[in-house]
Amino acid sequence: MDAWPIGVFTSIDAGLGVKLEVAHELGIPTIQLHAPHRQTRTPENAKKFGDQLDQLGIQLTCVFGGFEGESYADIPTVERTVGLVPLSTRAERLIEMKEISDFTRHLGCAVIGLHLGFVPHDSSSAVYREVVAVTRELCDHAAGNGQSVHLETGQETAQALLEFISGVDRSNLAINFDPANMILYGTGQPIEAVKLVGPYVRSVHCKDAMWSQSPGETWGREVPLGEGQVDIAAYLNTLKDIGYRGPLTIEREIPQDPDRQRSEIGHAQRLLSELRTKILGS
Ligand code: MG
Repeated sequence: MDAWPIGVFTSIDAGLGVKLEVAHELGIPTIQLHAPHRQTRTPENAKKFGDQLDQLGIQLTCVFGGFEGESYADIPTVERTVGLVPLSTRAERLIEMKEISDFTRHLGCAVIGLHLGFVPHDSSSAVYREVVAVTRELCDHAAGNGQSVHLETGQETAQALLEFISGVDRSNLAINFDPANMILYGTGQPIEAVKLVGPYVRSVHCKDAMWSQSPGETWGREVPLGEGQVDIAAYLNTLKDIGYRGPLTIEREIPQDPDRQRSEIGHAQRLLSELRTKILGS
C-alpha cells in the first residue's frame, strides 16, 4: 500500500458512516467499517461483503465496534452510555466486541477499533482496574484472531490515554487518532496530542471541529474538513513526523444529510490528496 491512501468511514446498517457505494463512486481505495447489527453479523454476510470489496478493489483497514444503547447526545450521556466502561452493559458488550472481532476475521481484516468510553481518571480506583482487565480480555481475544485493537481518541487527554495503554500492557493495543474528537470533547490540542501518543498511532481519522465555549462540558461542533480548528496541514505534517504512513480515513458524521455528506467527503478527499502531494511529494 502506498503511503497515506485516502479512506472513508462506512456503514452497512449501523453507525454514522457513508455507504460503500460512496467510496466506490469517489474512487476512495480504503475504508473503515462500522460493525453491522448483530443479526446481520454472520459469516455468510462477511463473505458477501468481502467479495464486494474485492470486486470494487477497496481495502478494509479496520472494523469499529458500536453497541445498542450508545448515545452521543451530550458529553454526560456519552459517559453514561458509550463503550465498555458503563458497568450495567460491560459484560454483554465485551461478549459482543469479541463477536465483532470474530466477524472481522471472517472479513480478513486485522484491526478492530472502538470507543472504550470515559476511562476513569483515578488509576487506583476499582473501576479503573476493571476497565484495564476488560481491555486485556478483549486484546487477548483479538490476538487469537491475529488482530490489533485500536482505541479511538477523544474521551481522554493524550496523557491519560498513554497511562491507560501502559497499564493494559498488551502489544496489540494501539490508537486510532481522531483530531476533531480532542476538540469536540475538549480534551486537548490535537497536534500536541498526536505528538505525545505518536508511537501508538496505527490508524487515524481525518475530521475537523470547532471548540466549544465550555470545553469538556458541552460539545464542540463538527465541521467540514479544512474549515475547523484542527489545522489539517499541521496535522498531516505531524503524522509525517511521527512516521505514520497508513490510511487517512475521512469521517463525516452527518448521515441525516447523505447528499451533503457525500459532497463534503469528496471535498475532503481532494484536500487530503493535495496536502499529501505537498507534504510527501507523492
Ligand atoms: Mg473518529
